[in-house]
Amino acid sequence: MSGVLRVDLDAFAANLREIAERVAPATHMLVVKDDAYAHGIEPIVRRAWIEGVRWFGAFDVRTGLAVREVLGDDARIFVWIVATAEEAAEAVAAGLDVGVGDPLLLEDVAAVGGTARVHLKIDTGLHRNGVRPEDWPQFTARAAEHEAAGAIEVVGIWSHIAEASDAEDDASRAVFDEAVHVAEAAGLRPRLRHLAASAASFAWPEFRYDLVRVGAFAYGIRPADGPAESELGIRPIASLVAPVEGVADGVVRIGLGSLDGLPSTLAGVLTIATEGGVRMLHAVDATASTVDGWPGATAGDEVVVLGAGAELSATDAAERIGTIGEEIALRISPLVRREYR
Ligand SMILES: *Cc1c(COP(=O)(O)O)cnc(C)c1O
Repeated sequence: MSGVLRVDLDAFAANLREIAERVAPATHMLVVKDDAYAHGIEPIVRRAWIEGVRWFGAFDVRTGLAVREVLGDDARIFVWIVATAEEAAEAVAAGLDVGVGDPLLLEDVAAVGGTARVHLKIDTGLHRNGVRPEDWPQFTARAAEHEAAGAIEVVGIWSHIAEASDAEDDASRAVFDEAVHVAEAAGLRPRLRHLAASAASFAWPEFRYDLVRVGAFAYGIRPADGPAESELGIRPIASLVAPVEGVADGVVRIGLGSLDGLPSTLAGVLTIATEGGVRMLHAVDATASTVDGWPGATAGDEVVVLGAGAELSATDAAERIGTIGEEIALRISPLVRREYR
């Protein structure tokens, strides 16, 4: 017996509606990297499409191609990790929108043939790829040449920010605005400006521009040490459930362990929902864990370890061990069965 991750697609849809309302008139690009934050990419993108999401942030080319396969030609799919010229060619052939944050990749994409849709990336301070402001005039001038030659179409300008300090984020936004001006002066007409992920897109209208790249909030993962789900209008969409395997000496053994992605650092820290009320997680082994017992505990019962219907969300648990919600949610092993309702 082993654990199950139950994903509530109606709750997901409600989060998507909340995001769409919050960020309007900007458009929501749903970020689906890391197997849709471990929720399973195919059911997630199918439901998102039904709910009206048309933009998908896929991270790498492989994920972008997977989304294309599921949703067909009408989905707009943005990838920003393109490692080789071969990958660039694959991305362009599949009609993916390509984030380009270095001059060599710009040449690779332009050389593919077929007019690649490109979003140029300015480094606004995070130093996680992107073209530095001092190199930006030359970079955008080169992009304009390629566009004039019909090799690319520059549809967007984008960057990624820390979303950690207001002052730093405001400074990044000033760099971003300047980069858009420089690109326009070079003759480019980027219609899609995008800067914000979950936190900034909810908090500040001036960070929303045309598109917001939101992942965490769509899955109901709130920021550590930030506003509560209720304040944000979102809720967790997944429950991590484990079966009771046996009871001995007042201790219950559940079929979920560190190999399933339950961090052993949660032992003695994580309280979980059982049929007998809230109980402390005692010890985490490779394939099983122990929990304080309750009267009537029986093999085959279920306990809710994390997420919707549990005592703690992924972010609650993360805060107790000094990390962020994604660190818990993304660690759930692909071997844990996913169920959708
Ligand atoms: C992961 C990621 C996002 C989404 O961030 P969330 O905080 O999960 O909304 C947005 N943009 C980029 C570049 C990312 O890598």
